Amino acid sequence: MIIVMKKGADKEQLAAVEAKITELGYQPHVIYGETRNVIGAVGEERGKEKLQILQSMAGVENVVPILKPYKLASLEVQPEPSTIEIVPGLAIGGKEFVVGAGPCAVETREQICETAIAVKAAGARMLRGGAFKPRTSPYSFQGMEEDGLKLLAEARELTGLPIVTEVVNPRDVELVARYADVMQVGARNTQNFALLKMLGQLDKPILLKRGMATTIQEFLMSAEYILSEGNRRVILCERGIRTFETATRNTLDLSAIPVLKQQTHLPVVIDPSHGTGHSALVPAMCYAAAAAGADGLLVEVHPCPENATSDGPQSLRPEDFTAMMKKLRKFVEVCERTMAD
Ligand code: PEP
Ligand code: MN
Repeated sequence: MIIVMKKGADKEQLAAVEAKITELGYQPHVIYGETRNVIGAVGEERGKEKLQILQSMAGVENVVPILKPYKLASLEVQPEPSTIEIVPGLAIGGKEFVVGAGPCAVETREQICETAIAVKAAGARMLRGGAFKPRTSPYSFQGMEEDGLKLLAEARELTGLPIVTEVVNPRDVELVARYADVMQVGARNTQNFALLKMLGQLDKPILLKRGMATTIQEFLMSAEYILSEGNRRVILCERGIRTFETATRNTLDLSAIPVLKQQTHLPVVIDPSHGTGHSALVPAMCYAAAAAGADGLLVEVHPCPENATSDGPQSLRPEDFTAMMKKLRKFVEVCERTMAD
């Protein structure tokens, strides 16, 4: 249910409604608006009619059911786009179009530091790199684990770029959170609800990738798992879905951008690297993502893609990334967004 407070409702009235929601066995989530505040009361669908009683409380304008199965992610609860702070001075979902870039996996100090310096010079605002890699084969490189996280922290120290890195296993959430600025949930874990619930308890932004066989509604339900635990900082990432097409590694669903924008206030970023699987196709998808209204990109860049331990064929060389970023600015400008220098 959404409890719409009256325009002049005061703090005490808001607190009283929150307390009543809790007493009724639901969780209150306050969304502070420009002119009025609303409270999303979420919990068990069965019996939610009892929340109608809130209608008679002081300061309450209206109590309305949320029609969508996802609640806190929906535009019904929050019509304005969410601007999610990554670190002070950097937010996704606002005016700035934010690009995160870096290798698929952290391999060596030299590799991650060299990449970080290059992507920063080209205008990237976040450094990506996996220390825990969810590989299709158990015989493939699985990541450097904590040593990789330490190297990411060194690269952050060197460049000032916040780091986005994946957590694969719920038992590593605490460890990864000690290093990461943004916790990435990979496509293979989009519906790992135990992991999502744990991430919902962190005070850190979560970059949630769309599963390769996940509908948009299921994707938003996964976001809801994180939001319902109290963490509001969820960034959605489209990275391609499985179709019959084999010319590309996945089929990058760019229509997911406007579809998501019709349904949620959460920011949307595009990963054109996993979305296509081929570095030559990446720049076109970067431009298209900006033109379609995405809030940012997550791009794989490697100083020497032919020697990469994972995803070399889809990784841009630093010079190609730089050229892409230069052209990207024009698309971003047309869309009335900004990009860092
Ligand atoms: C990655 O970002 O390197 C990755 C494994 O992506 P995905 O989960 O989208 O396959
Ligand atoms: Mn990868």
